[in-house]
Amino acid sequence: MSFLPTEVFPVIVPTRSSLKSFNFYIVKNEDGLSLIDAGVNTTKCWEFFNQALEDHGFTLDDFDQIILTHNHEDHVGLVDRIVAQHDIPVYVPERSIHRLKRDRSFFQMRIEFFAELYKEMGCGEAGERQVEKLKEAVQYHEEKKLHAELTAIGPDTFSTLTPVETPGHSPDHMIFHSSSEKMIFGGDLLLKHISSNALVEPDRKGNRIRTVLEHERSLERCAALDADVVYAGHGELIRDHRELIEKRLHGIQRKANRILKQIQSGIHTASELAQTMYQDKYEIQFSLVMSEIIGHLDYLEAHGKVEKEKRDGVCYYSSIN
Ligand SMILES: [Zn+2]
Repeated sequence: MSFLPTEVFPVIVPTRSSLKSFNFYIVKNEDGLSLIDAGVNTTKCWEFFNQALEDHGFTLDDFDQIILTHNHEDHVGLVDRIVAQHDIPVYVPERSIHRLKRDRSFFQMRIEFFAELYKEMGCGEAGERQVEKLKEAVQYHEEKKLHAELTAIGPDTFSTLTPVETPGHSPDHMIFHSSSEKMIFGGDLLLKHISSNALVEPDRKGNRIRTVLEHERSLERCAALDADVVYAGHGELIRDHRELIEKRLHGIQRKANRILKQIQSGIHTASELAQTMYQDKYEIQFSLVMSEIIGHLDYLEAHGKVEKEKRDGVCYYSSIN
């Protein structure tokens, strides 16, 4: 078999948000021409993509497939536009499909999941407001449904890229490793300039995923891979992934320890912890802040540092000495 060295052409779309940029990648190798992730669904992003094609002498017709790392809308934005013009397979993690297809019963269950969770975490009215927002977003969800046919990625779907399950940031997250080329397409697992959030989510059956613990394991899995470069979903490319992963793992520990100190000083519910530690952000970035607190409480619980007790439907955390 002739061996084609991999060539990667990044598409970098700047944004003013803390993410810095939306990145996706045109990849040429023996699997043909692939697009890994597909940016946001905006005119600006579409124009950047078309400019990149022109700069490198490609057209849409050259593509053989689209590959997605996870279901977040800033990674799947251009899929339908591309497939409408050039019908190619779209490979996605198996666990992305019901989210990308906006499965009604799943999103209904997800609302009930968060209503119950925020109650348990003592969020009161702030939690109820968030649940109302989720209900309003159901319509919006329908509009975001991908129309393209989606194919689940299996271990042998690609000859040159190994898919590696890396849940945590999202339950479906995958990265793609080329051992011969020493490169990783990392999605949002690892970002150079900010730590990637591990967002609380239910699995398909409605059970809460221990997201920070999963994220930690996924980072370790990534550190075990040999690579000179990680092509990240936002910000700069990463040349020293093991060092950066070390830093991120310490960051998780540090954050968990800060929460532990608050618990030892007499704060016992996730909601009170969030308000004490994040103040205004508790209201403004409610779901993000609660994900941080709940995820790190799981971490402390798994490491035998805290235990929880449910009273009147609310979880109270206390430290184990
Ligand atoms: Zn993401």
